[in-house]
Amino acid sequence: MSSSIVTAGNVDLSNCAREQIQIPGSIQPHGVLIAVSEADRRIMQVSANSMELLGCAPEGLLGKKLDALLGNGLGEAHPRFWEQQVVLKRMEGNPLFLTPMQIGNRWFEGSIHRYGGALLLQLEPHRRAGDEDQTLDVYMSARSVTADLKQARSVGEFSDITARYVREHTGYDRVVIYRFLPDDSGEVVGESKRADLTSWLGLRYPASDIPSQARQLYLQSWVRIIADVNAVPSPMVPALNPETGRPLDMSYCVLRSVSPVHLQYLRNMGSQASMSLSLIDGNRLWGLIACQHEKPRQVSHEARIACEFLAHSVSLQIRSKEDEESLDYSLKLRENVQRMTEFMAGDAEFQDGLLKHRPDVMSLFRAGGAAVVIGSKVIGSKAMAGNLNLRGLTPDANAVNALLEWLKQQPFSQGIFSTQRLSEIHPEAAAYPEKASGLLAIRVEEAELQWLLWFRPELVQMVNWAGDPRKPTDVDEATGLLTLSPRRSFELWQEEKRGVSEPWLAEELRVAGELRQAVVEVALRRARKLKRDNENLTRSNDELESFAYAASHDLKEPLRGIQTYLDMLSQTLNVRLTDRETQAMAMVMRLARRMDELIDSLLDYSRVGRLDLESEEIDGSELVSEALQMLKHQLQSQGVEVRVPRPLPCLTGDRVRLREVLQNLITNAVKYNDKANKWVEIGYREGPPLALYVRDNGIGIEERHHAAVFRIFNRLHGRDAFGGGTGVGLTIVQKVIERHGGRIWLESKPDEGSTFCFTLGDQV
Ligand code: ADP
Repeated sequence: MSSSIVTAGNVDLSNCAREQIQIPGSIQPHGVLIAVSEADRRIMQVSANSMELLGCAPEGLLGKKLDALLGNGLGEAHPRFWEQQVVLKRMEGNPLFLTPMQIGNRWFEGSIHRYGGALLLQLEPHRRAGDEDQTLDVYMSARSVTADLKQARSVGEFSDITARYVREHTGYDRVVIYRFLPDDSGEVVGESKRADLTSWLGLRYPASDIPSQARQLYLQSWVRIIADVNAVPSPMVPALNPETGRPLDMSYCVLRSVSPVHLQYLRNMGSQASMSLSLIDGNRLWGLIACQHEKPRQVSHEARIACEFLAHSVSLQIRSKEDEESLDYSLKLRENVQRMTEFMAGDAEFQDGLLKHRPDVMSLFRAGGAAVVIGSKVIGSKAMAGNLNLRGLTPDANAVNALLEWLKQQPFSQGIFSTQRLSEIHPEAAAYPEKASGLLAIRVEEAELQWLLWFRPELVQMVNWAGDPRKPTDVDEATGLLTLSPRRSFELWQEEKRGVSEPWLAEELRVAGELRQAVVEVALRRARKLKRDNENLTRSNDELESFAYAASHDLKEPLRGIQTYLDMLSQTLNVRLTDRETQAMAMVMRLARRMDELIDSLLDYSRVGRLDLESEEIDGSELVSEALQMLKHQLQSQGVEVRVPRPLPCLTGDRVRLREVLQNLITNAVKYNDKANKWVEIGYREGPPLALYVRDNGIGIEERHHAAVFRIFNRLHGRDAFGGGTGVGLTIVQKVIERHGGRIWLESKPDEGSTFCFTLGDQV
């Protein structure tokens, strides 16, 4: 459809926009137009075809009283008709329809309206002269369609009902509902058509297809009809109105003739007749009901009135249908945000709340893809997006990272940024219009969830040409004009819409703001909970330490008693015991000793937690020498080679505890070593942060045990293997290091030796 059906065509748009379509000077020849002087009802102008239709040439009519033409028809039926109905009424946009009348031997339907200083009488042949009254029919079906329209739940359904009704009443081959979008481009939203025609539903048209001048005219007059594109227009005689000195303004004339360009356009489309009605919301042209027929077609007054009535009532309901539709949508959006908020609050991980359940981020707005960015990480000197989760149709991770970098420089309004033309402001996006021409971004600084992005593809990619190509775009040899077709319109529209996505609705932006607010609140709640958990943890740690201390302290005493009595017993009983009893006695004593060791270890451990640490400058090399000095005998007796590849830097910390850490690690390095030539190396790695290490060529540790060795009482070997031990050493080492703000880890494989590394906070 497009301009094809409804208006002057748009081959040369600048011409078309200039063309004075309301003063064509001629009419379509299936009817007669008569301009009457208001003062004395004399005929001032008449269309040149009056002879064919009325049986009287213009010369015979001009200057005559209208009554002479119409006979007494008007006056007899309505004695004061002229005064009451014509003189007193405003009839600009609302012509007065006359009852069918006979002129000569033909019947005519007539209408009168006043415009531009003239009274205009339009007469069209009445095919069913004297037939039964159809008013009741029209009234009944109008009632039923009104009820149907009320039921319609969407603008689409509403439009389909309208199209169907208009087609039933007029018999056109195709009726479509065309809707103007905010940028004046258009879209077919409803259709009723002959079964064998291809659907135009969903087609888009460029703004230029219906020039603004035509749109202006549609706001004034509700209906336009072209009965036969091949009919030769009939000029007005005389061309200028003698009273006004100007050509007739035919803005409200249905007989008005149409620009040849537009007629050609219709012919190219295979149409010979068309009608269009305006759909007006308030004072905005919302859309059009556009009808087309392959053969010439006239529409009776009844059908026209019925369609006009429908167009009016549809117009009145459009706003509420749209409101209803957007209310439904915004309710759904809010419900989804609510659900997602609950998920976020409930799930351990933020992104799970957004990605794991239904509805998820993707189902929130009508987007092709989404990205959820949690946290940030530092790579080189750059802070990069941390955990990037991509869903649906999105640019690749690199492109999204670049986009995030760019977004950081953009103006956010209350944490929200949106565009439907990304590549215009972020040129790199020109590489992926089919994924992200539209972008809606939420930025949250307060939370670990930092970014939420939604992408919309280029609209052109989403809306596919569904229709019959008919004639391809062509240049007419004779006129040099493009012959337009829906395909050509669609192509034009595509050119206009390159790199543009569906717009983000105000409602969607509002809901995005609400989601952002919800994220912030959930984040605050989580932070508060984390703080509470931390406090609880610290408290229970403290309690555990004092418990361990008290328990081990109190256990020591009875244990000492047990050991004393055991000694006594073993001495006195010694001679009387059997071998088995002697063995059992020895076992009891060993277990008691073991228990004593364990309690001592526990005490040591709890002491580390309770000690106040010193913080002093320590020469690292000195510290190592001290530790080695303490272990001198052990190292010498086992012939261990000690390697210190370079002097160690200065450290800050508790000298005694750190020396114990080194001693402990060096002891283990020697202890868990089955090589003939054992060595241990003590060194450091540059920071930040600086890390000290103790390396050995011992038995190594399987990766799956790396975390376990730091757990209390945990040994990887039998109780007495490798000289025995309680499994507390590394636990204490870890505790000391953590109390210095550092961390300890190990690098090791079985048989390849072990390296224990540790940092002391962020010392460099
Ligand atoms: P303990 O030496 O008293 O058993 P630790 O806490 O010092 O307790 O060590 C825990 C366990 O970790 C040891 O039993 C041993 O199995 C393993 N381990 C510690 N250091 C080394 C090392 N340098 N090489 C191999 N295994 C080690």
